[in-house]
Amino acid sequence: MIREGGCLCGAVRFRCEGEPINVRICHCRNCQKAMGSPFFARAPFDQKALTVEGEIARYASSEALDRIFCKICGTRLFAWRRTPAVAGVALAAFDDRNAFAPTDHMWITEKMDWVRIDDGLPQYPGTAP
Ligand SMILES: [Zn+2]
Repeated sequence: MIREGGCLCGAVRFRCEGEPINVRICHCRNCQKAMGSPFFARAPFDQKALTVEGEIARYASSEALDRIFCKICGTRLFAWRRTPAVAGVALAAFDDRNAFAPTDHMWITEKMDWVRIDDGLPQYPGTAP
């Protein structure tokens, strides 16, 4: 299965091959700040399964993770983990935004107070097991 996506302005396009390792929503403070959003819904893929075209920029949001965005429009596309080498792809950036549905919430301890979770999915205080 190949799924494609891209940034808002269209300068960056990507394609993911195969299935993601998991599909989760992260409520951690780093994701809130990095995404400018209450949480980050993402699907991590093996970096080898991801092909990216167009000009991207990156910065390290922690020792473990780079954040990658379109150099022109700033759409936040990937969280790039060094070890293991996975790329967390923003669910919202896929052409089919409903391609994947999250199965877990993590870093609930840092969740914004007004965010109500009533989807019945498992919630983990930190990283999911
Ligand atoms: Zn763009």
